[in-house]
Amino acid sequence: MYRSHNCGELRESHIDKEVTLAGWVQKTRDKGFVVWVDLRDRFGITQLIFDEERTSQELLEQGRNLGREFVVQVKGTVIERASKNANIPTGNIEVLVKELTILNTSKTPPFTIEDKTDGGEDLRMKYRYLDIRRNPVKENLIFRSKVSMEVRNYLSKEGFIEVETPYLIKSTPEGARDFVVPSRMNQGQFYALPQSPQTFKQLLMVGGMDKYFQIVKCFRDEDLRADRQPEFTQIDCEMAFVEQEDILDAFEGLTRHLLKEIKGVETSKFPRMTFDEAMAKYGNDKPDIRFGMEFGEMNTVAQHKDFNVFNTAELVVGIAVPGGASYTRKEIDALVDWVRRPQVGAKGMVYVKCNEDGSFKSSVDKFYDQEDLAKWAEATGAKAGDLICVLSGDANPTRTQLSALRMELAERLGLRKNDEFAPLWVIDFPLLELDEETGRYHAMHHPFTSPKPGQMELLETDPGGVKANAYDLVLNGNEIGGGSIRIHDKEIQSTMFKHLGFTPEEAKAQFGFLMDAFQYGAPPHGGIAFGLDRLVAILGGQETIRDFIAFPKNNSGRDVMIDAPAVIDQSQLDELNLLINDRKN
Ligand code: ASP
Repeated sequence: MYRSHNCGELRESHIDKEVTLAGWVQKTRDKGFVVWVDLRDRFGITQLIFDEERTSQELLEQGRNLGREFVVQVKGTVIERASKNANIPTGNIEVLVKELTILNTSKTPPFTIEDKTDGGEDLRMKYRYLDIRRNPVKENLIFRSKVSMEVRNYLSKEGFIEVETPYLIKSTPEGARDFVVPSRMNQGQFYALPQSPQTFKQLLMVGGMDKYFQIVKCFRDEDLRADRQPEFTQIDCEMAFVEQEDILDAFEGLTRHLLKEIKGVETSKFPRMTFDEAMAKYGNDKPDIRFGMEFGEMNTVAQHKDFNVFNTAELVVGIAVPGGASYTRKEIDALVDWVRRPQVGAKGMVYVKCNEDGSFKSSVDKFYDQEDLAKWAEATGAKAGDLICVLSGDANPTRTQLSALRMELAERLGLRKNDEFAPLWVIDFPLLELDEETGRYHAMHHPFTSPKPGQMELLETDPGGVKANAYDLVLNGNEIGGGSIRIHDKEIQSTMFKHLGFTPEEAKAQFGFLMDAFQYGAPPHGGIAFGLDRLVAILGGQETIRDFIAFPKNNSGRDVMIDAPAVIDQSQLDELNLLINDRKN
């Protein structure tokens, strides 16, 4: 037996007990006649004391020479500490060591294994196994496990069955590039790794499983942003014989359960907003509704004077920044620079200070009088003391720019509080999205999403206007889940593929199996998938999903610890009958 207790377990009630502990040496403190060692494992830290009087000079010497991160086993007696440490649960006791076994030595770690480490991100990723020994990372992994467990508890209780689906499959289009795997047994052919288990979960519904879920890895070969990973985890779900309302109900239940069990937060019925409303009010299909600053559309109150910038714009839209009237000229100039950064892309920004005395001071006083500006204040809901920020231009980009400004200002004003949770359903998404570059429509969610009842005909005349039975669950400005009611009729699915630009042959080659299945009694069905990494990060009150993944990849998609991806042996290439073209395009 390596240990009788773990390093977080011993209390005053254990005093005088003989115990055996095992763990890592966090640090040693050498006072000459005594040496203290902090022994750490996943459960905590216990102080060991080596004392030449009470044990032996030889043992003290061994204790003194322990290096950081040595793995040791000690036998000893639990005693009361002379100077207690109220900051740790084991702070009232220490273990007087009688026997020490070094189970393994350690090189000096490249960074300190402390909550606040001196190691930079790259170094910590290269030695992630050491990073995981640090409390913040360890706690995040434990937290993630707790969330997964609660998901399983809840869904099993609700009658969902966890079914595994294959990883070596054929493309499932979720809008990203596929990762592909060459097949040795079928030379010249490739599997695709699933972007999601979408088609399989639909087939499980045809198979009669009724309520499916899976905590599952998905793979999307996209250019990475800080909060994306090429492989990520979904809580993937599907239900048969449901309408949109049933799905919203079921997964509102799951989310409410998680908020309660994990965060102790009670939530009432989640508000709902249509996609169109979200775009008009927040310029964003995943609005953060923890704070106001809703958009005020201002065309009618701003497009009647000689100010050409506004007159020629498709949309003039503003927000009221609470307390912003006190911003200095320099601060406002900095805001204007901020919206003009290429990442945001606005051409400029008009502002109005709503003074405490009820008067207005704007950057366009030449064109607008006090009465006009009072109407602007009304349109944006600005009160005395606020600053109105106004952007204009083509509607979609202008909304996106103002949304970025709204989020930035809310962040600066401390309105995005991590301990507040504001869930929201966004519903009635458009079915199709126009790709500006190719001029072609593609599925906004995925090609299996059903249009709203009665809208199929619109596909011919106004494809962009067709709404889908698709929904997203938004939490604090993040999309944490998204799904749809599916098409379960072969004819409708074929029509959909046609509208998405697939020839019948292409549709058959890629999705023939699904259309075949639809001929054998496919029940009405629908589902949703949650991004587990992001959900865990938000519940944990943090922004980056990497912090909640044991072995994440960096922004170039590399695992710097194992050094992947990597070249493979010529013999492997030969076996796969693959030739590498070293011409770099
Ligand atoms: N497969 C979808 C996705 O990954 C989710 C769903 O429609 O259930 O976004």
